[in-house]
Amino acid sequence: MKLLEVNHLSKSFGNQEILKDISFHVEDGEFVSILGPSGSGKSTLFRMIGGITKPSSGSIILRGENIIGKKGHISYIPQSSSLFPWRTVLQNVLLDQELSGKVDKERAVQLIERAGLKGYEHAYPHELSGGMKQRVSFIRSFMNPQSLILLDEPFSALDEFTRLSMHKWLLSIWSENKKSILFVTHNIEEALFLSDRLIIFSEKPANIKAEFTLPFSRPRNTELLLTEPF
Ligand code: ADP
Ligand code: MG
Repeated sequence: MKLLEVNHLSKSFGNQEILKDISFHVEDGEFVSILGPSGSGKSTLFRMIGGITKPSSGSIILRGENIIGKKGHISYIPQSSSLFPWRTVLQNVLLDQELSGKVDKERAVQLIERAGLKGYEHAYPHELSGGMKQRVSFIRSFMNPQSLILLDEPFSALDEFTRLSMHKWLLSIWSENKKSILFVTHNIEEALFLSDRLIIFSEKPANIKAEFTLPFSRPRNTELLLTEPF
């Protein structure tokens, strides 16, 4: 079933056309990547889906409802840490659930342990490495009751080895937690490794140049990525 439908979306800032007639969809439980060069409008697209920026034209439909200008329908992870520095790891992880009024502390602790962060439940973000902080952000998103997670180049601030282990970990948490992911990156290798489907943006103004589904049968493991260049 279609979770998100973006139809004929365009965005201009003044007389500068950024996105031109973008249409795509995300199915329930699907991992879709958007590949585009820096400055092609990927973050602008996310801000429109997140209800922060209004498109110039087009529609954004989430489970049949037009969400243009509406916040709170998605969970969003930016490039660098989105954690609150005055809250502990556990308090950060539970934040989205607190806002929705339904807290599952046991599951939070379980996910923190599975992320290799056992013993850090009561640590503060400044005590964690960049990769650890991103793991906490991901756990918070997977605990969020919303079913769509937007990832805006969440690994770009991390070193290569941390990135590779994060890829593998993300796939395992995603396959167990049945969320839809819309991921933007300018890293082709990363997009090929992670996604079910790939959407490629052209340069200014961005529109969709190509879209293809990757074979389900391909092995998704980090060893392959390390030894076999795409
Ligand atoms: P990407 O995330 O793909 O790197 P962005 O969406 O951040 O690209 O930006 C796309 C283009 O839109 C850039 O040229 C940027 O300068 C411009 N832009 C983004 N936000 C604004 C804004 N609020 N006002 C004017 N121009 C903007
Ligand atoms: Mg961006």
